[in-house]
Amino acid sequence: MKGLIFSVKRYSIHDGPGIRVTFFMKGCPMQCVWCHNPEGIAPQPQEALRNNRIGSSDFRVSESVGVYYSVDQILGIAERERVFMQHSEGGVTFSGGEPLLQADFLELALRELKKHGFHTTVDTSGYASKETFRRIIPFTDLFLFDIKNINEIRHIEHTGVSNQLILDNFRFVLSNSAGVQVRIPVIPGYNDSVESLSAISDFICREATPVLKKINLLPYHKTGVSKYKLFNLHLRMSIAEEPTGESMKSLAHLFDKTGVPVKVGG
Ligand code: SF4
Repeated sequence: MKGLIFSVKRYSIHDGPGIRVTFFMKGCPMQCVWCHNPEGIAPQPQEALRNNRIGSSDFRVSESVGVYYSVDQILGIAERERVFMQHSEGGVTFSGGEPLLQADFLELALRELKKHGFHTTVDTSGYASKETFRRIIPFTDLFLFDIKNINEIRHIEHTGVSNQLILDNFRFVLSNSAGVQVRIPVIPGYNDSVESLSAISDFICREATPVLKKINLLPYHKTGVSKYKLFNLHLRMSIAEEPTGESMKSLAHLFDKTGVPVKVGG
């Protein structure tokens, strides 16, 4: 069995504790208007045409996005970085896209990584069946779980799906897993109001269990915008100003009442 992966990031320090290898898995059931990894949404390999210039000549190079990896290849890559992981208490992270969309492969890869002593993290949108969560929880040390909006109508408008399954799964993971960090992308005009973030904070206050270790507020950034052109995708969100450090700090205080440590950034 193989998993379709569109990027492998070594020495990653924002996708869980310590130094990690992050595998970005292809395919996502959501369509967030701000998505920074739009090349991760389609569940099949894609070709992108990149503009290159040598001297005064312009030419286009076709680039393939999405490569199938076996579990042995994943283990091999992790093994090569083991020393860095050990020294930093890091490990292996699966992100995306939505890694739970490739549940069979994910379960197998997590199981093998655990067997070989690696710390495992899964970065998820939360949009998957409860059964899928049930299968991977035993092999996942930490979930990075996205909460984007408590308002269901706004959630549907900006991500294409209802948030009910996600919020249900969040409760399920909080009650059944070893560790959870909430990740909240702060997106101008979508959920960056005091009202919207306070609603998320209230929800966390109601639902938190001791396994909730941290809340990360992830500021909107423009770095994914160029990818839309590269992959010939329609950018549905107007390019917005990135929030300042000061404004993020003040929004972070909305989560003080949860009693969970809050950090701006990953
Ligand atoms: S859940 Fe993540 S990967 Fe999927 S569309 Fe939204 S931002 Fe992109």
